Amino acid sequence: MPRIHALAAASQKRIKFMNIRVITFDLDNTLWDVEPAILRAEQAQRSWLLQHRPGCIEQYDHDALWEFKKRVWKQYPELAHHVSQMRIRMLFELQKAAGFSTQDSEAGAREAFAAFLQERHKVELYAEALDVLQQLSRRYRLGALTNGNADIYKTDAAEYFDFAFLAEEVGASKPAPDMFHAALAKTGVAPQQMVHVGDNPDHDILGAQQVGLRTVWVNLGGSPWEPAQYQADAEITALRDLPATIASLG
Ligand SMILES: [Mg+2]
Repeated sequence: MPRIHALAAASQKRIKFMNIRVITFDLDNTLWDVEPAILRAEQAQRSWLLQHRPGCIEQYDHDALWEFKKRVWKQYPELAHHVSQMRIRMLFELQKAAGFSTQDSEAGAREAFAAFLQERHKVELYAEALDVLQQLSRRYRLGALTNGNADIYKTDAAEYFDFAFLAEEVGASKPAPDMFHAALAKTGVAPQQMVHVGDNPDHDILGAQQVGLRTVWVNLGGSPWEPAQYQADAEITALRDLPATIASLG
């Protein structure tokens, strides 16, 4: 084998067997089912508005409210990666449209959002999640990377996490590389030493692969893998399989 090829092969081998040091996790639908928390949060926000800003949402059915939201999204494209600010803006516009003053609408948006967020943070981890995270935290540094506004530090898993990045802090949502780069900068490891674990083929698997991370697809629903152009390094259908799967990656 020509020397240059031999060197390349040796370096590839080294990369392949570089030990995994860091695991980053998507949160929603990876460590918990997000639906119940979102439904409760939406309900809390609605109750706040009905009680404190009468006439603000009563006239909208589900579809009409959806249309209203879409108009606000179009008007403020710069908030696309800031889910919290976008929601606060939408709450503000709803009140303004109902005739409340700017001052009242601003205060109301803040308070209705606080009611939303309080419930949004009450997520219930999947039954096996705590145990698995505890095991993994003994061998690896763990981080959270989310496009949503959940806070891992407000859950029972807080003690196992070294760091967390939110799309709205970083200014870009997965699959953009920004949050993955932030995790690499924070930990100082090579991309091959980091595994990203998540449920969304596009946001989690493609996004992480484009930065050179290893990937585990969390497929708790047992869905078929759809993208033809790429695939995850490993797939799990139960969180309890994660420690062995990570170990098999290196
Ligand atoms: Mg997810």
